[in-house]
Amino acid sequence: RVQLPRPKQPRIIVVANQKGGVGKTTTTVNIATALALGGLNVLVVDNDPQGNASTALGVDHSPGTKGTYEVLMDRVGIIEYAQPSPHSPNLHVLPAAIDLSAAELELVNERGREHRMRDAIITYIEESGVDYVFFDCPPSLGLLTLNALVAATEILVPIQAEYYALEGVTQLMRTINRVKGNLNDDLELSTILLTMFDSRTNLSREVADEVRKHFSEQTLNNEIPRSVKIAEAPSFGLPVITYQPKSIGALAYQAAAEEIANRGAED
Ligand code: ADP
Ligand code: MG
Repeated sequence: RVQLPRPKQPRIIVVANQKGGVGKTTTTVNIATALALGGLNVLVVDNDPQGNASTALGVDHSPGTKGTYEVLMDRVGIIEYAQPSPHSPNLHVLPAAIDLSAAELELVNERGREHRMRDAIITYIEESGVDYVFFDCPPSLGLLTLNALVAATEILVPIQAEYYALEGVTQLMRTINRVKGNLNDDLELSTILLTMFDSRTNLSREVADEVRKHFSEQTLNNEIPRSVKIAEAPSFGLPVITYQPKSIGALAYQAAAEEIANRGAED
């Protein structure tokens, strides 16, 4: 494996799209694993009560498992509950159990409710020397996603190559700009990744052209193809990158991760 370039500053990336099923979790776990296998220190914060990222990375998230909920509600340090992934010693996962769903409502009445995760991340960066933090978000723009947006420096938006893909992005851009204006000046939509791309269909190509026209800087050159191996990997508690490293899906995620790492090293 090639050693990937270390960013000058830790990069804190929210993987967001308020649409479900577009490849947020798949993108999070595979990019994070590829960067970790490239020698970088990586944390995945599972910020979705469904805990799909925890599952896909082979980390326990059964009810009662401590993780993202405790960090947000009890202000416990991330380092206390981040678990090493079984696949790479420099990949850690802050798991999400179903209990996290309560945080969305419980946070409403808390003081500093939007800044909980940012405070925790600042401390974790000092304690851990992490290079990349990824937030896998639920398909909504509520307080869980907001906490991640306030903590982050960048947003990565996976876009499924289908009609109306850009409509959702417009709404997301509005939220980003509101957060940027009020809570986090540093936030940038840095990266767009086309997922579930099917080069045989005109539709996929049209959507890709449209996305590239609007977001020429941000859109990665590598697209993620639709692939059965990608879809079956989570049931083995593995990202496709380690489940079937030679498959087209794994190679595409590997290439996208290298693109992300190289872009980040240029700044
Ligand atoms: P989200 O987190 O946005 O809801 P997921 O990453 O969970 O989306 O993906 C939704 C479903 O599609 C999952 O079952 C996943 O395994 C599958 N999937 C994701 N990317 C691909 C792909 N490139 N090819 C085939 N199936 C995919
Ligand atoms: Mg998901």
